[in-house]
Amino acid sequence: MVSEKKRLGLYNRFPFIDEIIEVNSFYEILDDSCRRRLRKANAILVPHGTLISQMSSDDIEKIESPVFGNKWILRWEANRELKEKLMREAGLKTPAVVSSKYDIRTLCIVKLHGAAGGRGYFLAWNRASFEEGARQLIQQNAIKSEDDLYIQEFIRGVPVYLQYFYSPITNNLELLGIDRRYESDIDGLGRIPAKQQLGSPEEPSYNVIGNLPLVLRESLLDEVYRIGESFVDACRRLVPPGMPGPFCLEGVYDREGRFTTFEFSARIVAGTNLYLDGSPYSGLLYDEPMSMGRRIAREIKIAKRKGKLGKVVT
Ligand code: AMP
Repeated sequence: MVSEKKRLGLYNRFPFIDEIIEVNSFYEILDDSCRRRLRKANAILVPHGTLISQMSSDDIEKIESPVFGNKWILRWEANRELKEKLMREAGLKTPAVVSSKYDIRTLCIVKLHGAAGGRGYFLAWNRASFEEGARQLIQQNAIKSEDDLYIQEFIRGVPVYLQYFYSPITNNLELLGIDRRYESDIDGLGRIPAKQQLGSPEEPSYNVIGNLPLVLRESLLDEVYRIGESFVDACRRLVPPGMPGPFCLEGVYDREGRFTTFEFSARIVAGTNLYLDGSPYSGLLYDEPMSMGRRIAREIKIAKRKGKLGKVVT
């Protein structure tokens, strides 16, 4: 595995990791020595969110080792305009985008660009509340100007993260797990009485601290598969070779049980850590504990055996 030096202390606690390539930053993947070691190990890289938040899309596309999934689609994940285009192409219901602070008329969530993991997000309901939130972020050096912000309609309901795996070998979409995030401090607000909430000058934040397991009511599941398949089809059309491997659709179910997708991750997500021993959904498909990691490894083995490795890596 490739690990940042600051994480080595953690990873060295686990006996199953056989070789670690230490880097100061993931940019070193492009350096000669790292490239040589990866080539020698015959490595296939499995990209994660930290890689995408650290490296530019241009540099990710320069990675020489095979990347599991579609490395070209990671640019579409990192760029808000491309991201929306792909979700629209898939026919997903998405939150309205508000292009100017002067057009804020309903409750909106204001986001930073890139995979920020919810850090620095705030709510705005008019121009003044937007400017106040932006002012606080500028003061904290989190952004340079209001232009660094992206305004989206806030969807009332409960956030849900759908973890899929698509196999181009079998042409089958599997739902392997569902989670919700546990975000600080928005998920802790219920612990503060309303009187103290009203008196607090600070904006609540949406910083991800962990993930909680979830199962959906069964009547919603059919649509979960349909939107996943529409997404895979749209990826194939817009970003060849499509969406082999793990991906996640992230959205909110409203009070009518309608799903609005506000994000996607075109790669493995942290919420899959919940299901190292399988999930209630993977258990319906496999007679053994099927984690996302094991599913990836299995796909590589099957593809290799059938001489179709080119279908699962880019
Ligand atoms: P993200 O980093 O985009 O996955 O969003 C972080 C968190 O912000 C999510 O887990 C949700 O709690 C919340 N969120 C993001 N977008 C919306 C939206 N359009 N409506 C409601 N909540 C949202």
